[in-house]
Amino acid sequence: MAVPRPLIAGNWKMFGLGPAVDEARQVAVSLLAKPAAVRVAICAPATLVERLARAVEGSALIVGGQDIHQEASGAFTGDISAEMLADAGATMVILGHSERRSIYGETDALVAAKAKAALRGGLEPIICVGETLAERQEGRTLQVICGQVKASLPTELDGHAFAVAYEPVWAIGTGLTPTLEQIEEAQVALRQAMVEALGEAGRGAPILYGGSVKPDNAAVILKAREVGGALVGGASLKAVDFLAIVRAAG
Ligand code: PEP
Repeated sequence: MAVPRPLIAGNWKMFGLGPAVDEARQVAVSLLAKPAAVRVAICAPATLVERLARAVEGSALIVGGQDIHQEASGAFTGDISAEMLADAGATMVILGHSERRSIYGETDALVAAKAKAALRGGLEPIICVGETLAERQEGRTLQVICGQVKASLPTELDGHAFAVAYEPVWAIGTGLTPTLEQIEEAQVALRQAMVEALGEAGRGAPILYGGSVKPDNAAVILKAREVGGALVGGASLKAVDFLAIVRAAG
């Protein structure tokens, strides 16, 4: 499989009503006027996916969701499946975000099941891992994130497009970022763990960095070893900030 282009993906979390579609439209228009060197995605709340997909149709902007249930359909009140997200126009989905792991108790095994479901539904998964502050302070960062990646990536990913996102939990939404050395150490270890888990298939998938990526630190972070893009929360909500990050990627 050809080496995929880096990916800059926005995670809107539970933010955005109808007018937010305009922010995505601005990103799409900018990409039409000046194509980016990277792939660009916005992972929106499920309620906005169809509107976003329609608004940015014909542009290079990828529309994604933020979670799925592992089954295709069933009596799971409040949940949506990969097939439903794809039907609404999404082609990508974030899985195992630390907020889902910590608030909803999602385990590595569940994340792996959801990743298989994403493939079944035709969605490209972005599988998130990351250590808590306590785990870092205990010197267990690499053990934790490599363990998460090995248990969260099903072998079925072989032959499919997917990404891993390294997101230190303590850096999400806090304005704190690890040092470049800490980012590189984690990304390099994750690459090795992905190869151990998936063989050659673990070599090509981009490993995004996520955690307080902003227009003023993006260029430096994106040049770090094994950083194949970024997962961007807060700074993806405004087109002007998100585009600044996209353009910082080259
Ligand atoms: C995220 O939600 O995945 C994230 C990285 O958030 P922020 O960029 O706001 O830290």
